[in-house]
Amino acid sequence: MAHFSFKEKSQEEVRSLIHRLRAYRLVRNLLIGFILVAICNLLFSSLFYTPKMFRLADEKRELKLKYEILQNRIRSSQRQIEQIRHRDNYVYRPLFASDTLAIEGIYNPYDEAKYAELWGDEYSPVMVGMWQEMDQLARSLYQESLSLDELQALTEDKEKFSTAIPAIWPIDRSKMRNKIGAFGYRVHPVYRQWRFHSGVDMPGRIGDPIYATGDGVVEYVERSRARYGYGTQILIDHGYGYKTRYAHLNKLLVEPGDTITRGQLIAEMGNTGVSTSPHLHYEVIYNRSHVNPINYFDQNMSAEAYKSLMSQIQDANYEAE
Ligand SMILES: [Zn+2]
Repeated sequence: MAHFSFKEKSQEEVRSLIHRLRAYRLVRNLLIGFILVAICNLLFSSLFYTPKMFRLADEKRELKLKYEILQNRIRSSQRQIEQIRHRDNYVYRPLFASDTLAIEGIYNPYDEAKYAELWGDEYSPVMVGMWQEMDQLARSLYQESLSLDELQALTEDKEKFSTAIPAIWPIDRSKMRNKIGAFGYRVHPVYRQWRFHSGVDMPGRIGDPIYATGDGVVEYVERSRARYGYGTQILIDHGYGYKTRYAHLNKLLVEPGDTITRGQLIAEMGNTGVSTSPHLHYEVIYNRSHVNPINYFDQNMSAEAYKSLMSQIQDANYEAE
């Protein structure tokens, strides 16, 4: 029985072995088939484009084209910024007599290392180029925005400046009794010596109104009845390097630290200090130098008016030292 069963078993085993062999053969053939197909596919695809590859190549071409269009747009923006910068430097800034805004190194390109991560494929040159141009554009925009901020501040300042600088007559012209004593070097009538006259003299009567010629702050006043020097005087600081002095006054109507507006009544004409007859000695000081006040009477003086004014000026001397 044991032998029979062994035989029976062995016959069964032989049958299953045949089945398994058939299965193995089938798997082997399938594998070979697959490998052959794969090899063929590889050979085919390396020699010929598949439709999918054609599509990818198309997409790549289109992508490159889009990059180039983008690059052109960046360049045209750069040209526009250049035009704005040119206008800024040659039109707006000269209006305010302002220098070109210069930021140290603003146009130096960034270090190459900044773009290191972008390198590594065939798009890199386009990509890196575009990044560099974008960075340059950003720098230009930053510089222009700073420049415009500065110009805006200058515009606001210009309004203040125009009311601060001396630009009117310090007296009522109709009250002037004689010719204006000129500014500059003149021969002293008594001593026959050249002397520098640091302002203009405007003759009038004691008590005539004296007006501030520009906005400012009273820097200094002196009350003096002495027969030497400026006598009773006011010094106004207008800022922007300008100061005006009003001397030989009779009565002061302001105190140091007072804020003054152009045309404000600040004093009465007098005959104090070195003065031979009632007059106002008026000085315009710019950056610590005395300048001719005649040029600050009226900013919009016509050539005709200037000529007529000059004819009213002489080497008259109302001050004897
Ligand atoms: Zn004088």
